Amino acid sequence: DVLEEAMDAAACIGCGACVAACPNASASLFTGAKISHLGHLPQGQPERDKRALAMVETMDLEGFGHCTLAGECQEACPKEISIDVIKRMNRDYLVASAKRQEPRAVAGSG
Ligand code: SF4
Repeated sequence: DVLEEAMDAAACIGCGACVAACPNASASLFTGAKISHLGHLPQGQPERDKRALAMVETMDLEGFGHCTLAGECQEACPKEISIDVIKRMNRDYLVASAKRQEPRAVAGSG
């Protein structure tokens, strides 16, 4: 259920164990948890695209590695946050990028 997923993602305490455990030094679990938490709440919707773009791009700029879905992060996470938040983040990012580049190409796709 959506609210339950949002609450799970909200459990992130920013401890950094996921980044430390990742062979690519990716911060994707952490970032995905934040995006997922905010993106699932009704009050998060208007800012959703902008936030997905900004957070993923900031993560890249900061020099974190690229996620290859190795899965070490979810094993290391003390809050048992699932790698599903990364898949969701990637989807949000792709949708938002597509909208930015081709405003009409994805109109109406939700
Ligand atoms: S290990 Fe879990 S709780 Fe810690 S920063 Fe990563 S996602 Fe958040």
